[in-house]
Amino acid sequence: MADQLIRATAAAGGIRAVGVITTRLTEEARRRHKLSYVATAALGRTMSSGLLLASNMKREGSRVNIRVKGKGPLGGILIDAGLDGTVRGYVDNPSVELPPNERGKLDVGGAVGHDGYLYVVRDVGYGYPYSSTVELVSGEIGDDIAHYLVTSEQTPSALVVGVFVGAEGVTAAGGILIQVLPKAATDEALVKTLESRVAKLAGFTPLLQEGKTLPEIFEQLLGDMGLVMLPEVQMLRFHCGCSFERVLGALKMLGVAELQDMIEKDHGAEATCHFCGEVYQASSEELARLIEDLRSESL
Ligand code: ZN
Repeated sequence: MADQLIRATAAAGGIRAVGVITTRLTEEARRRHKLSYVATAALGRTMSSGLLLASNMKREGSRVNIRVKGKGPLGGILIDAGLDGTVRGYVDNPSVELPPNERGKLDVGGAVGHDGYLYVVRDVGYGYPYSSTVELVSGEIGDDIAHYLVTSEQTPSALVVGVFVGAEGVTAAGGILIQVLPKAATDEALVKTLESRVAKLAGFTPLLQEGKTLPEIFEQLLGDMGLVMLPEVQMLRFHCGCSFERVLGALKMLGVAELQDMIEKDHGAEATCHFCGEVYQASSEELARLIEDLRSESL
């Protein structure tokens, strides 16, 4: 199934549900960054979370950045997801691998670390991003994002994200976010029922592997609560806005002396985009042109 996002409501608009399938884009991230199994799961869960959080922003061009900074061997995770369905991201140490945890699952919590912080920045495009920080709960990402939603955004929320990665790559990835909006949040029985149903899900990827579609998963969770599926299906993809022009712009900022040095010692320059792993090479001639530009600008 293609990577996609779908929305639904229930309880006469009191419940908002969003689901994403991110199998292909997580596989693309795995290949681009040469991620280990546990790094694939950690980055994939964070990218799915970012897409889910971005989906409830209103203004065109809105983006969400999530930074996870634990003390585990994986180092930090950074993702950038947009309301437009694009996402990109990376981890500091992509080759870190750990033995499975006591439940036989990829040890994302161990790789990220239990101590640390989750930073979420929401940028609606006005130039004043709204940011917020919470302590990590488990480093498993799903719990941490849910904790952020409850404490920072004060919306009762259930979030499940998962990635299944095997020898042949990523075969299932995605997640769901269910939020109880203020008009229904006082209905404690409703919140409790939802919480227990989500808690009973044995993760998200087993459902995908059973062949369940997002509408079927929503039906299972919200079918008796007045579920209304919204017809629009949004496509999702891994996308990075980097370009050779931007790399040249960054190189130019190093200044004449540094550029001269690169020409003499390295006969050019190589730059790798952190977000997507794309490698850009600038020749000596291109660097010489930047020096010319700098000199003519300073006249
Ligand atoms: Zn890039």
